Amino acid sequence: MNPENKKCDIIVLFDGYSVNSEQGSQSNCTCTLIKGNKNVIVDTMTAWDGPKLEKAIEENGLKCSDIDYVVCTHGHSDHIGCNYLFQNAIHIVGRCVSKKDVYYNFDFAAGKPYLIDVNIRVIPTPGHTLQDVSVLVSTDKGLYAITGDLFENKDDENLWYRLEVDDAELQRKYRSEMLRHADFIIPGHGPMFPAKYKYDQITI
Ligand SMILES: [Zn+2]
Repeated sequence: MNPENKKCDIIVLFDGYSVNSEQGSQSNCTCTLIKGNKNVIVDTMTAWDGPKLEKAIEENGLKCSDIDYVVCTHGHSDHIGCNYLFQNAIHIVGRCVSKKDVYYNFDFAAGKPYLIDVNIRVIPTPGHTLQDVSVLVSTDKGLYAITGDLFENKDDENLWYRLEVDDAELQRKYRSEMLRHADFIIPGHGPMFPAKYKYDQITI
């Protein structure tokens, strides 16, 4: 592999959060920018976050029109809200790949990854919803997994299965897979953490 192809920066623009409140809960997703041969934004927060997301992208030397791919790890409203900002991008929302009104055939269920670039892959990681995907990025520093709500946050061992989960067994399986293979996890609602941190705590 040409080492040039491995050069890309992973920038967490906003750490997500989720806390219980009187009305229910208050949450927003972790939002990540991948800068490289292809510019990718992963999870676009709520529909009320447009101005701050645009500003954060500009602070990192890009415009929204420079984004080639939007990936939403699943279709919940706190992960898709600002997709409209990225008019030049291919949009991957869960397992659905589209641009404008064109919906592309891609069979995530067949188990093969969707290659955005030689070092950026989108793979199915169902459980939280059956449509969930994760983005894997190979870098010189290791393998980064941007997982959405496969992981809620660094310390979610007693939390994730109590949230709304479509298939807990599948989610458990893909959590283990991810911890086994990745070096760093960027979860759905918290800061990035080293996969090793959790791998040591679980029995697979
Ligand atoms: Zn979420």
